[in-house]
Amino acid sequence: MGDGRDDLAARADEDGIEFFLAMFVDLHGKPCAKAVPRSSLNMLMDGGAGFAGFAAGDMGQGPADPDLTVLPDAASYTRVPWKPGVAVLHCDPQVGGDPWPYAPRVILKRLLEQLGTERGWVLKTGVEAEYSLLRRTPEGGLEVADALDRSAKPCYEVKGLTRMWDFLSTLSRNMNELGWGNYANDHEDGNGQFESNFTYSDAVTTADRTIFFRYMVHMLAHDAGMCATFMPKPFSDVTGNGLHTHLSLWTTGDEPLFDGDGDALGLSKLAYQFVAGLLDHGRASAGVICPTVNSYKRIGVGAPNSGSTWAPAYVAYGGNNRSLMLRVPDGGRVEHRAVDGSANPYLAAAVLLAAGLDGVDRALDPGEQTTDNLFALSPDEIAARGIAHLPGSLDRAVDELVDDAVLRRALGVLPDGSDFVDYFAGVKRAEFDAYHSTVSQWEIDRYLTQ
Ligand code: ADP
Ligand code: MG
Ligand code: MG
Ligand code: MG
Ligand code: MG
Repeated sequence: MGDGRDDLAARADEDGIEFFLAMFVDLHGKPCAKAVPRSSLNMLMDGGAGFAGFAAGDMGQGPADPDLTVLPDAASYTRVPWKPGVAVLHCDPQVGGDPWPYAPRVILKRLLEQLGTERGWVLKTGVEAEYSLLRRTPEGGLEVADALDRSAKPCYEVKGLTRMWDFLSTLSRNMNELGWGNYANDHEDGNGQFESNFTYSDAVTTADRTIFFRYMVHMLAHDAGMCATFMPKPFSDVTGNGLHTHLSLWTTGDEPLFDGDGDALGLSKLAYQFVAGLLDHGRASAGVICPTVNSYKRIGVGAPNSGSTWAPAYVAYGGNNRSLMLRVPDGGRVEHRAVDGSANPYLAAAVLLAAGLDGVDRALDPGEQTTDNLFALSPDEIAARGIAHLPGSLDRAVDELVDDAVLRRALGVLPDGSDFVDYFAGVKRAEFDAYHSTVSQWEIDRYLTQ
């Protein structure tokens, strides 16, 4: 069959697969699945798996709507290394036989297909999915799982790394068994915070792997009696969890388009235009790449105990400078450091692609690179350089997002003729309002006896 099911069945049988997890995510990146026995593989490939979209999450459906039918992408087959006999199939949701334009994977695939057919290009991405390993306290609170991990400067600390050896080595082995090319694992800047790197790939594969990676980290942590989180800022005085996203364009013939021989940053003219597009849409993109109330605690608050947030507050680009939103560590790619652990990786890749391509289409120039340490400058000094601030809260970010015509067009149109971005904004405004309708400890401290 043309849907790759013969190869899929052969691989599954070789791996002794008994169950497939037919998986998809909603707007927030929540992974949903049904477990489908191997004996029903043909049924799954023919008719997909059915879900009540309203129950799954924010999928643009109400309780009275027809089934969301999710169809497996055979090429996404991923054995679940810690659960013998189980494999994940990432799926594309449909309703009534048509791709469902609310589904993040459908949105990204549409843009990548256009990129290939209209320009002959491919987007490759690599992500750094930082996470924290925590434990629930008997009182219902949360603390760093490793009680000894208290130092004010824990980054790269070998003893903290070694105390998590069982977890980290299992995770590394799993990634490498899957052929992801895990090449480094380290203790990051926050207490309890780690990063396990895997090699870049085409943008859909990387987004699928990001979803799988989060699932794997959560489950391995659970098995070890811990609670993993990718939340952007679990503690206000500890460095938050980013999802730095490295981007490069290639031809469909695998020729790199961002390499610039002889250029100071090693970027091509096309890459500079792409960077300029990322800057131009920097504030509006925040609504999608920093998509939760908590995101703005990561990029907004002052330096934590370790001395730096490592998260950008301003829209600027430059070389190997970690105080900027866009960093060019080596030639041939650009790193976007604003994306955080609460981002939906499909939607994040979609808006970054659209932003960058707009820079290419308008032949934008990003201007001189920033060489300053922006963490050390005052707001006035930043303003004097003409550098914009990222939005300070989710509601402000969403206001900018809905006003961005390029991102609006890229995210697509819904069956009723309205734009996905307005649906997204509605969900996010409700999220912000729900947060804003609770009384916090800060308010008590600030106003009780004022
Ligand atoms: P750093 O911590 O310095 O930002 P990492 O090594 O943690 O860097 O992560 C770098 C990421 O960038 C990896 O996922 C890597 O595979 C990816 N990457 C490297 N080259 C490219 C490229 N040309 N296009 C996209 N991603 C890339
Ligand atoms: Mg039922
Ligand atoms: Mg890194
Ligand atoms: Mg990191
Ligand atoms: Mg990085």
